[in-house]
Amino acid sequence: MEKKIPYKIYLGEDEIPTQWYNMRADMKTKPAPLISPADGHALTLEEMNPIFCEELNKQELDNDTAYFDIPAPVLEFYKMYRPSPLVRAYFLEKALGTPAKIYYKFEGNNTSGSHKLNSSIAQAYYAKAQGLKGVTTETGAGQWGTALSMACAYFGLDCKVYMVKVSYEQKPFRREVMRTYGATVTPSPSQTTEVGRKILADHPGTTGSLGCAISEAVEAAVSTPGYRYVLGSVLNQVVLHQSIIGLETQAALRKYDIKPDILIGCAGGGSNLGGFAAPFFGEILRGEANYKIIGVEPASCPSFTRGTFAYDFCDTGMICPLAKMYTLGSQFIPSANHAGGLRFHGISPTLAQLYHDGLFEARAVEQTAVFEAAEQFARTEGILPAPESSHAIRVAIDEALKCKETGEEKTIVFNLTGTGYFDLYAYQQFNDKTMSDVIPSDEAIADSLKKLPKFGNE
Ligand SMILES: *Cc1c(COP(=O)(O)O)cnc(C)c1O
Repeated sequence: MEKKIPYKIYLGEDEIPTQWYNMRADMKTKPAPLISPADGHALTLEEMNPIFCEELNKQELDNDTAYFDIPAPVLEFYKMYRPSPLVRAYFLEKALGTPAKIYYKFEGNNTSGSHKLNSSIAQAYYAKAQGLKGVTTETGAGQWGTALSMACAYFGLDCKVYMVKVSYEQKPFRREVMRTYGATVTPSPSQTTEVGRKILADHPGTTGSLGCAISEAVEAAVSTPGYRYVLGSVLNQVVLHQSIIGLETQAALRKYDIKPDILIGCAGGGSNLGGFAAPFFGEILRGEANYKIIGVEPASCPSFTRGTFAYDFCDTGMICPLAKMYTLGSQFIPSANHAGGLRFHGISPTLAQLYHDGLFEARAVEQTAVFEAAEQFARTEGILPAPESSHAIRVAIDEALKCKETGEEKTIVFNLTGTGYFDLYAYQQFNDKTMSDVIPSDEAIADSLKKLPKFGNE
C-alpha cells in the first residue's frame, strides 16, 4: 500500500549524513583547474595556500575522492539547525490545481536565513584548525557574510566582510546581524584597499559588485598576517560542503520511496544547485538513473544561457585566479534595478562542466515573474522566500502548470534556499509596481566579454 506522504519529512538527528559527496569523482570530464592570471599554469597547492586555507585547498584540488568525512565539530554544529525538512507543498499544489507532486527542501531555518551556513561552518572549522587568526570575505545580498560571521563567532575567529555597496545601503539590518556576531563590515568598493581605490577612480559612483568585493577581500587577506580568504560559492569545495542538502533530500525521498522526475535549483555561483543536485548528478554520471535537472538564473545576469564557456577572472579587479566557467565577463555588472540576488558574472567550474556536457538545462527568468511566484508561494506555503530561492519556485510552478495541461503526475523537487526577511526593499518595489525587468543587451555582454583573459582561451 502506498504510504501517505506527510506534510514534512523529517530525518532524525542520527540520519544527518556524516560525509560530503564529491561528484567530481564520478565526472568523466573533470572541471578545468584554477589557473594563474600571470602565466596560465594550473595552480598548485603551495601556490594556493597563501590565499586560501590549506585543507580547503586540498578539497578544491581533489577530483578523485568521492566521499569526505565531515569533521566531528562541524557535524555537531549541523545538529543546531539540521536536518532540514523536506516539505510536500500540498497547499501550493492545491492552489495550482496540478496533478504534479511538489516538494521543497527548506534551507532557511537558521539565523543566516540560507544554506550558506553549511559551508561557512566547515570553512571556519578548517581555518581554526590551521591556527589562523581570522578570515576575509565578500558578501553580496549579505547571507554569506552573515553565515560566515556566525561560524567565526562559534570557532572564535576574526571575520572581515566586504559588502557590495548597494546591499550595504539597502540592507542595513543585515550588517547589524553580522556585527552582532562580531564581524567588521566594510562597504565595497572602499578606500581601504588598493584595488578598491582603483575601482572607485575608474568607476566613480559605482554601486559595487560581488566581483569588486572579492578583489578587496583577497587583497585584505594576503596583506594581513594570519588571515586567509574564504568564498561562499563558486569553488568546488563549497559545492562539496553543500552536498549535505542533496544527501539529506535523497535520504528523505528514499524513506517514502519517492522518485523525483525534476530537480530544480537557483543558480548564482552554483553552490546550492550543485549541492542539492549532487547525489542525483552522481546517479546520472554512474548510469544508475536519469533526472531532469534545471538551474534557474536571472534574465538580468544570465551566465549559463547567454554567457561563454571560457576561462575568466572571478573578480572585477582581475587579481584572482582564473576559473573556467560560463561567464558574462568579469566586468559585467548587473543593472542596479536588479533586486533578486544571484548577481555573480560566472558560475562554479563543476557546474559549468556538467552544463557543457549536457547533464542539466538552464533557464533565465525575469524578476517580476520571480516575485509573482514568491508572492504565490508566501500566500500558500506560509514561508516568505528569498528572491534568489524564488527563481527556483518560478520554474517549479511553471513545470507544475505544464503537468496540469498534460495531466502528468510528475514529482518536482526544488531547493528553497532561504527566507526573504532582509529583501523587503525588493518586495516593496514589487508591491509598489516599480519593479522592472532589465535585460542586458547583446552588445553589453559582448563588450564585457572582450576583456576575457588570454590564458586558457587561446
Ligand atoms: C547565496 C544564495 C543563493 C545563490 O548562491 P549559490 O551559490 O548559487 O547557491 C541562493 N539563495 C540564497 C538564499 C542565497 O543566500
